[in-house]
Amino acid sequence: MNTYDKYPTLRLRRGKEESLDRFHPWVFSGALARMPQGEIEEGAVVRVEAADGRLIGVGHFQIGSIAVRMLDFGDTVVDEAFYAHRLDDAWKMRRALGLQRADNDAFRLVHGEGDFLPGLVIDVYGSTAVVQAHSPGMHYARHIIAGYLPALDGAGITNVYYKSETTLPYKARLDPVNDYLIGRADDDVAIENGLRFHVDWLRGQKTGFFVDQRDNRSLLEHLSHGRRVLNMFCYTGGFSVYAMRGGAELVHSVDSSAKAIALTEENVRLNFPDDPRHAAFAEDAFKYLDHTDAGAYDLIVLDPPAFAKHRSALRNALQGYRRLNAAGIAKVAPGGLVFTFSCSQAVSREQFRLAVFSAAAQTGRRVRILHQLTQPADHPVNIYHPEGEYLKGLVLYVE
Ligand code: SAH
Repeated sequence: MNTYDKYPTLRLRRGKEESLDRFHPWVFSGALARMPQGEIEEGAVVRVEAADGRLIGVGHFQIGSIAVRMLDFGDTVVDEAFYAHRLDDAWKMRRALGLQRADNDAFRLVHGEGDFLPGLVIDVYGSTAVVQAHSPGMHYARHIIAGYLPALDGAGITNVYYKSETTLPYKARLDPVNDYLIGRADDDVAIENGLRFHVDWLRGQKTGFFVDQRDNRSLLEHLSHGRRVLNMFCYTGGFSVYAMRGGAELVHSVDSSAKAIALTEENVRLNFPDDPRHAAFAEDAFKYLDHTDAGAYDLIVLDPPAFAKHRSALRNALQGYRRLNAAGIAKVAPGGLVFTFSCSQAVSREQFRLAVFSAAAQTGRRVRILHQLTQPADHPVNIYHPEGEYLKGLVLYVE
């Protein structure tokens, strides 16, 4: 089928097709020959053409600095079959990775551009899929997407919760409502590598749990034995519970949010009831480190929220990472480990490493990098969209 009669066309300025010819999935508004003045509805599917009229592909139109998120490079009709195909592909990959099994049912099914579905995130917790739209186009497609999820063979999805009140552009005035689109869950426990977690997709941050730290939590488990562990920015207590299973001597969890501390305590109880090794504190991380005695912990996790949500905040963010890491490196016991992370997309791997390097230098201690960490395989990076690589981490050995 030809898309010419079906979708409105946007024409690029001369020379602006280069990145698209290399399959980069974003069209910036400045690349358009003319920004439509209200004649194209936000969220609509559009055709994108080079200045000479050559068809480049189809995508979701949006008002903002990214004007089109490309869905396909070619003359493709974006219908139910299109979404079904992409979702099948995403599930096929997770299935091959062995992420849905008796002892693991929490994973990311769709990771935006990494699954050729820009603007869409889907996390699965047991029989519930949490769908998050980041673009008006995906908001309009939500019922098609949700409707198809129970049909994914072997995925076991029976409930679909839509959660986009905070992720859609406010100006688009879509007034999304967080609610179930299909079914309703009566169980909120998900299993990650045999550990059980309450996931609060109704009130929690993002989709309710950070599945992106799964592999890094496993690594920490294997390095926790006999160590006194401090888990900073603990949120749901993921790292804490793994450290306990790994045989940590004690585990302290810190988060400035009292709700997060309650969640952490609940999850520790779920896996290790009445275990005296764990304690949790609702406090600011910087303050907590300030009054921590040097040498009190042998393993410190620093997993703060994104310090830079946008490029403009980069300088302050790097300063924040420097300060936090200097405090952590200064306080860890000799022979101790620091697991340090940045989930800011605007901060590159190099910039993060440089911030940690300056922090280490500031403390004057001997520091070596043991592991360089990233996001797990269910958060794939589309090779033509390097911006999709957002999670960066280092494991430091501090003498
Ligand atoms: N490590 C977690 C994810 C961390 S999310 C995991 O594996 O799931 C970031 C957390 O940092 C949030 O829970 C937020 O409440 C907390 N936070 C934000 N600012 C903070 C601060 N200044 N001090 C302590 N915690 C903070």
